[in-house]
Amino acid sequence: MTGIYIHVPFCAKKCPYCDFFSKNYTADNEMRFVRAIVRDIENFPERITSDTIYFGGGTPSLLKAESISLMLEALKNKFDIISPEVTMEVNPSTVYRNKLELYRQAGINRLSFGVQSANDDELKLLGRLHNYEKAAAAVNEAYSCGFNNISCDIMTGLPAQTTQKLGHTIDMISDLPVTHISSYILKAEPGTPFYNEEFINTLPDDDYSAELYLFMVNKLEQKGFMQYEISNLSKKGYESRHNLKYWHCEEYIGFGPSAHSYHKGKRYFLPDSIEDFFKAPMSYKITDDAAGGYDERIMLGLRLKEGIALDDYPEKAHIISERSEKFIKAGLMTKQNNRLSLTPKGFLVSNSIISDLIL
Ligand code: SF4
Repeated sequence: MTGIYIHVPFCAKKCPYCDFFSKNYTADNEMRFVRAIVRDIENFPERITSDTIYFGGGTPSLLKAESISLMLEALKNKFDIISPEVTMEVNPSTVYRNKLELYRQAGINRLSFGVQSANDDELKLLGRLHNYEKAAAAVNEAYSCGFNNISCDIMTGLPAQTTQKLGHTIDMISDLPVTHISSYILKAEPGTPFYNEEFINTLPDDDYSAELYLFMVNKLEQKGFMQYEISNLSKKGYESRHNLKYWHCEEYIGFGPSAHSYHKGKRYFLPDSIEDFFKAPMSYKITDDAAGGYDERIMLGLRLKEGIALDDYPEKAHIISERSEKFIKAGLMTKQNNRLSLTPKGFLVSNSIISDLIL
């Protein structure tokens, strides 16, 4: 079934490390945004069947529950939506009990909180609007409102981050009623305020970043969160159904400025212009019109702990198997029942391993 992604391009304040497309929120823009999304849903040229809907951003939790209901209603009228996982990314500084209850009534059943750290000095450095107390209270409120599928983001590779500080974050967050963790390694992305030499010099080097990553995976696994993808761990049965579609190379369609789609063998995205998006349906930009080939499937599949079944790639199995031997010997890959997968150490150098295997 096809996944549905809606990009909500608003934030209360831009974080200095973030290169996702978002602009300042205003109530007027919220109304125009919802109207434009509903317009594009209604204009979509076919009736698809879907079981996952994902509100990402930006900060979807700046929107009123009423706006979320209008978009979900449009999706249900236009498409066949079957037992959906409906996720919303949440900035902890934007929610309170009543709003969370209304989101649940609107149909959201999975929340993904951008907590990032339990250390307030790190949250301040990241320019976040919440402190840890606020984030923990928001997660607990969500749980008490009936949300039992909650993810939190944890950021590693922060300036001056030690295993002790990261360990504190993991201890605090894993004590919350959380079923899923997404982890991100902080990078100074071009075009962001962090992209300057002075800041870049404060980031841990690659070796220490790797140590932090492996420490985090190990500690979270001890706490019952099993790694299922390079950057994602969950309690059993709580893997993100929507994000698994990306790695399984299944189709998804995106609505909203800068949203990406993979549909009918093509990968494409909408331009990142809010004003153009409000005015009229925008033309998609195609990035690949022959997507979903073997190489792409192997590349995406190896991001998953389950890896790839060599039998699925009869034309390539022999050469991949041969090339993987040196990585298996080095403890970077494993091969079991003709399935090939990366180890946590291998995930750290996944790009170079995957290029070596498929090129
Ligand atoms: S990190 Fe999240 S809240 Fe911060 S600017 Fe990016 S999308 Fe907005």
